[in-house]
Amino acid sequence: MKTPEKKNGKHNGQNGSSATPPTQLQTELLEMSVWVPQSMEPGSVFLLRNRSELRVEHGLHGFWAVLACPQCGTLGLITEPQYRGEHSVMCGSPHCSCHFLIHDHSRLEYLPNH
Ligand SMILES: [Zn+2]
Repeated sequence: MKTPEKKNGKHNGQNGSSATPPTQLQTELLEMSVWVPQSMEPGSVFLLRNRSELRVEHGLHGFWAVLACPQCGTLGLITEPQYRGEHSVMCGSPHCSCHFLIHDHSRLEYLPNH
């Protein structure tokens, strides 16, 4: 006698998340408390420990945080005005045109590309 149980068991396995559309982008930043480059996922942000010194040295153009592009994960440095949402952020990767604003140090708003 054959039983169809095996098939049904597989169907209810761990791969039940296929309903998520591939175009879904991160909408929130994930702030890292320690610098572990390997765990920087798309949308992760890490505030530089010496950011205050960098700002004293370079003014508002001093780098403030490392941000992993929410679309492709490429790491890039951002300034404090970008972190505060006063300036938009553009991904540094030549293969990605992600352009966004950071609101409240946590939410991402995607902007159209020019
Ligand atoms: Zn990117």
